[in-house]
Amino acid sequence: MERELTFDPVFKMARQQFDAVADLLEIRGGERDQLIYPKRAISISIPIHKEDGSVAVFRGYRVQHHLALGPTKGGTRFTPSLTLGESSALAVWMSWKCALAGLPYGGAKGGIAVDPRSLTLTELQRLSRRYMLEMIPFVGPQTDIMGPDLGTNEQIMAWFMDSYSSHAGKSVAEIVTGKPVALGGCAGRRESTGRGVVFLVERAFNNLQINPQGGTAIVQGFGNVGSVTACGLAYRTGMKVIGISDQTVAFYNPKGIDVAAADSYVAEHKSLEGFQGGEIISAEELLTLPCDVLVPAAVERVITDSNAGKLRCRILAEAANGPTTPEADAILDQRGDEIFVIPDILCNVGGVVVSYFEWVQDIQNFLWTDTEVIDRLCRILESAFSAVIRRSKERNISHRMSALSIGVERVRAAKRMRGIFP
Ligand code: NAD
Repeated sequence: MERELTFDPVFKMARQQFDAVADLLEIRGGERDQLIYPKRAISISIPIHKEDGSVAVFRGYRVQHHLALGPTKGGTRFTPSLTLGESSALAVWMSWKCALAGLPYGGAKGGIAVDPRSLTLTELQRLSRRYMLEMIPFVGPQTDIMGPDLGTNEQIMAWFMDSYSSHAGKSVAEIVTGKPVALGGCAGRRESTGRGVVFLVERAFNNLQINPQGGTAIVQGFGNVGSVTACGLAYRTGMKVIGISDQTVAFYNPKGIDVAAADSYVAEHKSLEGFQGGEIISAEELLTLPCDVLVPAAVERVITDSNAGKLRCRILAEAANGPTTPEADAILDQRGDEIFVIPDILCNVGGVVVSYFEWVQDIQNFLWTDTEVIDRLCRILESAFSAVIRRSKERNISHRMSALSIGVERVRAAKRMRGIFP
């Protein structure tokens, strides 16, 4: 596995980030390997009958990074390019993220290498159910809990839960999070990642002593996280969203885009293609337009050494996982204009925090109100934000180094206290 991970560009990036933190925390030798390499990595073949009668086989993965703090927790993505290395990198980031928020989880991630839009609804259901069936020996409410991510949604989580429950002979709602509320999902879970991003952007403005009202925002990606973030920035924070994009198209409109209309359009048409949002521009141009807040909310490695020097935002809110490469980070650090970076493991932590709330509620069969969820979420976000800013100032390190080092330090402490058995 080590060889497979070494050559994967996304895992390489997670490793580079970790090595920089390990240098900072003076972690050496075997302890480095113990902290970075996944505990378990599962790779499976998933056959399904297609509706035309043929058989198609897909690759599926699940990576569980560490078990020192409790069960593992992490999303399931359905994207054509998914690899074991990408799943591993995302599981590693998830570990530091959970530790930063003080959640009793190790990180996990996985999914299927598939474009869900290429399947009929029946085929998607067969594939989702078969994936969970193959995973039953490796997951469980106290072992590894799945959730949604790129290309998956509440319906897929419902199929996962039903497949696991059918096997167990009873309802096991706590096996996945991000379920529909009617099936034991948590009020506000769908919006939680985007809401958290908006809360943290407002905290960043507050920290910079700038009033966000009337400021401009650009959001890359208009799925779950991107659309909720864009709507929150427009209707809660009072900003003008001047740029949005998805996999199919990017729009620029200096007067402000009607993001509620864009949201309704995507609900009906599945993408932004054909939406009248403003001037159509290239995906690359979108990231380098002047704005107050730039929110990458799509995929990893979009801010690279070729565009980091051209960013013209005041705040970079990393809603996606791993949007900025280490090379781009070095450029951002060197720039004198000090872009305020809200690093991914802090910026999108709202999703896993509310997933944790969902898991706790399902285990106790005790449901919280929307207000309780938001209130508890904001308290955790506030505490994580303050801790990151404080350490960054005290040690004169970037926000990313600060966030990662808090996460790594907590996992390291847990591993040290537990020791190595036998
Ligand atoms: P999603 O599938 O709902 O939406 C993804 C969006 O990104 C879509 O609009 C898609 O068209 C767009 N996209 C894909 N590739 C693109 C590209 N190359 N350029 C521009 N747009 C592109 O996924 P999501 O759940 O919103 O997740 C988005 C990001 O947020 C991912 O990095 C994910 O890991 C991260 N994240 C999600 C959650 C969650 O709760 N869903 C939690 C934490 C982090």
